[in-house]
Amino acid sequence: ELKFFFPVEQTVAVIKPDAYGTKEEIIEKIHEAGFRIAARKETKLTREMAEEFYADHKDKEYFNNLVEHMISGPTFFMILSREDAVQGWRELIGPTDPEKAKENPETLRAQYGKDVLQNAVHGSSNPDHAKESIKKIFEPVNVVREDSADVAPEY
Ligand code: ADP
Ligand code: MG
Repeated sequence: ELKFFFPVEQTVAVIKPDAYGTKEEIIEKIHEAGFRIAARKETKLTREMAEEFYADHKDKEYFNNLVEHMISGPTFFMILSREDAVQGWRELIGPTDPEKAKENPETLRAQYGKDVLQNAVHGSSNPDHAKESIKKIFEPVNVVREDSADVAPEY
């Protein structure tokens, strides 16, 4: 019998403001899919934080709408841990456009997404992006050190 193993990975999942009200349901589905929530952080993003989070999209025509949406209400950030977490989470959320996601009604965007902008959830697109986001969002910041007056922004 052949069995395939994938390394345990971490990825970043975000429940966007449009789906914040269904947070508990989504968390249940995350657990059902075998993910462990290694860390969670609820935050209302500032414009600067949203612009940085989606910096790769700054030249897109939807960038301003995307930033406005991400700052329109609370967001829920999680570090998910599982074998093959990055790809597995992307598969669970489905394609960017909820209409397309409906081809697989089990996907989260099929169930919770409203449109291509308000599509309920985010997932890191690859392990490097996941590491970068984990660092930005979850590393302890706002610590004023003895040798520095600088205060890092809180994510
Ligand atoms: P994904 O979130 O599936 O990785 P992208 O990285 O392409 O998708 O885009 C990031 C986010 O920008 C999307 O989740 C969505 O909220 C928004 N977005 C993407 N494409 C569009 C579009 N054509 N119109 C409006 N918003 C969009
Ligand atoms: Mg993306």
